Amino acid sequence: MDAQLERLQRLIEVGRKLSMVPELSSMLQLIIGVALRLTDSAAASILELDLDGKNLHFKASLPVQEALNSLVIPVDESIAGLASKQKQAVAVTHVAASPVHYKIADELSGFHTHSILACPILFRGELLGIIEVVNKLGGADYNGEDVTILETLSAHAALALQTARLQTLLETTRQEAERLDKMKTDFVAITSHELRTPLGLILGHSTFLREMASTEYQAQLDTIIRNAMRLKEIIDSMTVVDNFQSGMALVRRRTVSIRALISAAFTAIQKEAETKQLTLTFENDESELMIEGDAGKIGIAIHNLIKNAVVFTNASGSVSVLAEEVPGYVKITIKDTGIGIPARDLPHIFEQFYQVESHLTRRHGGMGLGLSVAKMNIDLHGGRLWVDSVEGTGSTFTVMLPLDSAQPQGGNKAFID
Ligand code: ADP
Repeated sequence: MDAQLERLQRLIEVGRKLSMVPELSSMLQLIIGVALRLTDSAAASILELDLDGKNLHFKASLPVQEALNSLVIPVDESIAGLASKQKQAVAVTHVAASPVHYKIADELSGFHTHSILACPILFRGELLGIIEVVNKLGGADYNGEDVTILETLSAHAALALQTARLQTLLETTRQEAERLDKMKTDFVAITSHELRTPLGLILGHSTFLREMASTEYQAQLDTIIRNAMRLKEIIDSMTVVDNFQSGMALVRRRTVSIRALISAAFTAIQKEAETKQLTLTFENDESELMIEGDAGKIGIAIHNLIKNAVVFTNASGSVSVLAEEVPGYVKITIKDTGIGIPARDLPHIFEQFYQVESHLTRRHGGMGLGLSVAKMNIDLHGGRLWVDSVEGTGSTFTVMLPLDSAQPQGGNKAFID
């Protein structure tokens, strides 16, 4: 076969083989192996530029020379550095006469360099390193064809180095995300534990004082108690999250009337709905809709969903709740004509601490825990909760609760007491 055609075939083949090699060092060895053969050289190597752009480090060399692994080649004092600064191939025929040759490499490896062809490894214009071949066999000079071969292989090396960089970055980012997530989990656990006791004391003592105090202090004490209760709600939400995450959540199964839980949520939210002149309706066919489940947990989930519907619906809008039995389930639909949820936020709204509006600018209070708590409590019952929403038009949250629920999830426990 014609030598040129054979070289071309080898170059094409290297791309195919590279896709099958799993890790960087084998990829680079493969590339310089081909460089060595196709340019008829005695040695070949790939050097990577360090992050501050001052030095090059050997990433692969053939024949393998361990001595080079720890060697640092200064960009300002080497032929490889010259190619990297000029961002184009540099061929030097009489290395001994070159003022920029970095002789220490030869001294360390015991290799005597006569000629070098160095080519930059560029990814989208950014210099990643250098591929070089050394000592063309038979004392010949490197020619234009050698440059083309090395430039082609340099493109493969660029992809290999860049992929490895991205993998490292991905792994660092994953570890960082894991660390932050653990910080959040620890924060929820510590906060919910540490605030519970002092808050219990504040509530206990202020309730006692309210009983004893003369009427002139009743209003102030009511304010203290109301706000302490608000704090308690937040801590309770954090406790639900903590128990769920640590697998310690308990589902106390009893026979529960879903109708009664919805009515209780309506009573709690009635005043706020009236103030906003909202139409609040509950459609059901008078059936109690009994299921086996934890009344406290399902009650919180229903309450949070109805409360949100009222909070996020502007004056004179409407909130309607429909509860019905469908085969195997009780289905609860909470529909509002409120502000709706932007499509980009929909995948995230059940995440802990997620709020659509920035916490600093939003008009409503809240910690971004209401929906995640609702979802955890429904999940604990083997149920499902999802939302359909159109920004500016309204939202519909749907809950499906199995009639005989409380399938324990992971480490969380379900029992009848
Ligand atoms: P928060 O208690 O802070 O409101 P939630 O977890 O209950 O947190 O809700 C998360 C976010 O989802 C809210 O900040 C709000 O932007 C959005 N959201 C929840 N329910 C509705 C709804 N019915 N209509 C519009 N947006 C809603």
